[in-house]
Amino acid sequence: MRVARTRSDMQGVREAATDAGQTLALVPTMGYLHEGHLRLVDLARKQADETVLSIYVNPTQFGAGEDLESYPRDLERDLGLAESRGVDVAFVPSDREMYPQPQSVWVDPGDELGGRLCGASRPAHFRGVLTVVAKLFGIVQPDVAVFGRKDYQQAVLIRRMVGELALPVRIELAPIVREPDGLAMSSRNAYLTEAQRSSALGLARALRAVREAFAGGERTAQRLAELARDVMEVAGVRVDYAEVVHPDDLSPVSEAEPASICAVAGYVGTTRLIDNAPVAGPSSLENVGA
Ligand code: AMP
Repeated sequence: MRVARTRSDMQGVREAATDAGQTLALVPTMGYLHEGHLRLVDLARKQADETVLSIYVNPTQFGAGEDLESYPRDLERDLGLAESRGVDVAFVPSDREMYPQPQSVWVDPGDELGGRLCGASRPAHFRGVLTVVAKLFGIVQPDVAVFGRKDYQQAVLIRRMVGELALPVRIELAPIVREPDGLAMSSRNAYLTEAQRSSALGLARALRAVREAFAGGERTAQRLAELARDVMEVAGVRVDYAEVVHPDDLSPVSEAEPASICAVAGYVGTTRLIDNAPVAGPSSLENVGA
């Protein structure tokens, strides 16, 4: 596995791939890799000749008082995991490489999609995400980029960005990978104490309860969302939001349909966790014990 640390290293990789007639897949991450990230790598490897994994904790997507400084990092371990999973190139840029000058031009997600759900409690978050992803696309010039459904709103926004800005990259989404008990894998799970870890299960439990209620005939989105809130609160999660939304544009629905997405977010201690699932049909919650 090669490690590219600068834009020009990375651009060299892209040029060599183009010259050899090879396609590139990109998996953007903030590192502290877990199985969820590595499944994105598995999917990426099926989509292109070479797989690039980027590891970059992007400061512009963190708000004041959020966990930028404490965000877990372990580059040596990440590089070992990436290599053993078949990544061809790790792109590990510094802040100076990604932001050589103060950013003046931003990709604005707009209020309608970017101001709701996570965007409501993290106002500049998606502007930072879209801007750094656009930069990564510009530097790596991937043929395909792979993102996880775990960050569902992010995935919808990235698809929108690519469509509306006519960026020449295909977006593939991978299912949510969970711990055996249902907790969605996240680098931030490393913050949780044992007691908090069991409270955190409230998010997956809430989604499961919503799916059961839907299967039992409940269609009123507000009642499903209230159920999700109740389950999270009982588990000790401080609810940020619980909503049932349209899968394409995240607009609130009044009557839930099978493809509607239940999206939840909440705090356990100071750790903010998110999760989501369609209200019916396949989901990685099915394999999880009660
Ligand atoms: P992050 O490092 O948290 O920024 O995540 C990088 C990518 O991995 C994003 O596309 C996430 O949606 C995806 N991801 C993170 N956790 C999971 C998970 N548990 N299952 C699937 N994808 C995930």
